[in-house]
Amino acid sequence: MAAREPSYLAKCACGKFRAELHGEPFAMGAANCFCNDCCAACYYCDEKAKKEGKKNISMSCGDYPGAGAAISCWLLGDMKVVSGKDQLRGFKMSQKSPLCRTYTACCCTPMIYIGQKFGPRWRAFNLNCITSAKDGSPLKPEMTNVMGKFALKEAWDKIPAGEAKHDMIPWGLLPRVLGVIFIPWLFPGSQITVDEEDKNIPGLFIDAATVTEIVTAETYVKAGVKVPKALQEAK
Ligand SMILES: [Zn+2]
Ligand SMILES: [Zn+2]
Repeated sequence: MAAREPSYLAKCACGKFRAELHGEPFAMGAANCFCNDCCAACYYCDEKAKKEGKKNISMSCGDYPGAGAAISCWLLGDMKVVSGKDQLRGFKMSQKSPLCRTYTACCCTPMIYIGQKFGPRWRAFNLNCITSAKDGSPLKPEMTNVMGKFALKEAWDKIPAGEAKHDMIPWGLLPRVLGVIFIPWLFPGSQITVDEEDKNIPGLFIDAATVTEIVTAETYVKAGVKVPKALQEAK
């Protein structure tokens, strides 16, 4: 069988991490998530880059406090990490969080934002890292902005006119998102074959309970967003 040509590439700022993406993004295509966790996670990676004197590719959808995280979701069968798996570092937004997010050790670029053993059959990538495999142009899908209920008002008001805005995750998506979990044979790209070597890779199939890098309340405060209950209690 001839190897499938990827349609897009996901690359970190320095190029050590590369993933091939086939077809088109899953479900929403792309969304800016304005939830407190996503905003604080963007800030966390960007601060780390600054501290280490590295140039990363931010996941923020804008250069202002409370800007959402630009996410692009891909079915597991449509993505393949071709280099830099060893660069992925997992972090969590609280001790008990079931979600592992990642950045690359090489350049502190946020990369795969949802990726864990018991996760869904898709992975959320940093949209700002994705370019066309043909001509290198950035992936520029129609944007949807979600989780407005939790957004900073000033940030939510900065969204360009014409982009869709939702208080939560739009209901219309649920059949696809749930379908891909419970009836995967309807979605050819969603069947999972887990390579033995990928089992403990953050962002791929790690058990989130084993992730030890945890964001503190201070990060939320500095990012300008609300500190979640789980972290207030942890103080
Ligand atoms: Zn890098
Ligand atoms: Zn979010």
